[in-house]
Amino acid sequence: MNIQLKTQTSPAARSLAGRVSLVTGSTSGIGLGIARALAEAGSAVVLNGLGHAAEIVRTRDRMAEDFGVKVTYSAADMTKPEAIAGMIDTALADHGRLDVLVNNAGIQHVAPLDRFPPEKWDAILSINLTSAFHTMRLALPAMRKNGFGRIINIASAHGLVGSPFKAAYVAAKHGIIGLTRVAALETAEQGITCNAICPGYVYTPLVEAQIDGQARAHGISREQVIHDVLLAQQPNRRFATVEELGAFTVFLASDAAASITGTALPVDGGWTAH
Ligand code: NAD
Repeated sequence: MNIQLKTQTSPAARSLAGRVSLVTGSTSGIGLGIARALAEAGSAVVLNGLGHAAEIVRTRDRMAEDFGVKVTYSAADMTKPEAIAGMIDTALADHGRLDVLVNNAGIQHVAPLDRFPPEKWDAILSINLTSAFHTMRLALPAMRKNGFGRIINIASAHGLVGSPFKAAYVAAKHGIIGLTRVAALETAEQGITCNAICPGYVYTPLVEAQIDGQARAHGISREQVIHDVLLAQQPNRRFATVEELGAFTVFLASDAAASITGTALPVDGGWTAH
């Protein structure tokens, strides 16, 4: 599943040329936006995530063609430690190195704490938090060998503050910020950085899935959910974009960000400034 095609971006813009990046949950939404931004900056990319096989092949081939980098895909399920190990092994075998690890795969479920389904709790903790423990523990030896690594964990504004009805999500996102800090401290002298990005609302399928549910729950229109419920939290009153998150990730992956580590960086239009 390897594709190597022509380069279309100017060399000056390719700050990550020669790098290899793995983005979990990159078949959709923020992860896909981040993977495309890393590829545009010249990095080879390992995609991962769920979805229709034919659509994923099209996404992979288009990325390789648009940006002239090698793009591979792993179908590893982030709830399965042995599949995660296989994904890291295959990435290293296919690309020879691993420089940038973006832990982005995530799911959401909204329910009051006393009615929160235990199986949803387990799934959210497993995909949004535990998978990052596995990718990090397995990728670190290769990064240490090269004396270079960038680990970027896609947390959330919900890693910094709570909201009702999101017990598992808020717990997992707070957890990944703690994990980020530990990894940063353990790798600080090894050319490796580890940071968490904390987006506010970004319009993706994960958010789309909440809009109709909230409309039903509150008895209001979709537009009211977007403006009066979701974006009510976000002082700039607009969704952040996947392109903004991609550009920020490329910066954190670059040499210019070598001294930024152990941080939880909000991209939330002022939400957590309250
Ligand atoms: P999305 O639903 O568009 O994408 C989620 C990705 O994770 C998909 O590629 C999906 O296939 C993958 N995934 C889900 N379960 C998986 C599994 N078991 N194994 C492998 N891959 C799996 O969602 P998104 O909004 O792009 O969210 C991406 C990340 O950003 C999540 O961690 C989410 O918590 C975080 N985030 C999103 C927002 C937002 O407003 N959209 C805000 C803050 C943080």
